[in-house]
Amino acid sequence: MHRRITGKLVIATHNPGKLLEMRELLAPYGIEATSAGALGLDEPEETGDSFQANARIKALAAAHAAKLPAFADDSGLAVDALDGAPGIYSARWAGENKDFMAAMTRVERLLQERGATTPDRRKAHFVSALCVAWPDDHVEEVEARVDGTLVWAPRGTEGFGYDPSFLPDGHGRTFGEMASIEKHGLPPLGLGLSHRARAFVKLAEICL
Ligand code: IMP
Repeated sequence: MHRRITGKLVIATHNPGKLLEMRELLAPYGIEATSAGALGLDEPEETGDSFQANARIKALAAAHAAKLPAFADDSGLAVDALDGAPGIYSARWAGENKDFMAAMTRVERLLQERGATTPDRRKAHFVSALCVAWPDDHVEEVEARVDGTLVWAPRGTEGFGYDPSFLPDGHGRTFGEMASIEKHGLPPLGLGLSHRARAFVKLAEICL
C-alpha cells in the first residue's frame, strides 16, 4: 500500500540549489516544507552503493530526527564511456570547494584519454532517486533519468553542478543555458525535463 504525504514535510537536503528545486516542485501541492538545514539536522554520511540507497539513508535520518515525514533525493551524473562514473561520487568529484568546473574538466580529461570525441561516444545521463520516509520506517521510493550528451566547453551560467556540460537529448541548449523553471518545472510552465522533475512526477502519482 502506498502512503500519501499530508501536512508537514522535511526536505532532507543542505544543498540550496536542490532545496529551491524541490520547493518549486512541491509548491503546487500545498505541502508545507521545511528544510533539514533550517531544523539544524545533521547530514548523515552517504554510505550507500546506489543512488536509491543514499536517498533512503538521508530521508530516514531526517524523518527520525525531526519526527516528521522527510523527503530526500540522491542524484548524479553517469557517463557511459566512463562506466557510469562519476555516479554516486558526482558531488565528491567537485572536492571540498565544490568546484564543478574542476569536476567537468576531470570528466573531459577522462573522455579525451578514451578518445571519446564524437557525440555518440559522449552519452551520459543524470539520475534522480527520491525517497519519502516516515518516522515509523515506512518508505516510498522512485527513480528516473534524463539522457543526453556531454559538450565541451561547458555552456551557460544557469543551474548548478554539471549542468553547463549536459545537453539533454532533443534540445540545442545545455541545462546551464536553461532557466530553472524550464529545466525542472512541470508543464505548462516548464518542460518537465530533468531527472528530478521526472522522478517527482512518479512520486506525485503515488504519494501526493
Ligand atoms: P547528491 O547531493 O549526493 O545527490 O549529489 C548530487 C551531485 O550530482 C550534485 O552535487 C551535482 O554535482 C550532480 N547533479 C545532480 N543533479 C544535477 C543536476 O540537475 N544538474 C547538475 N548536476 C547535478
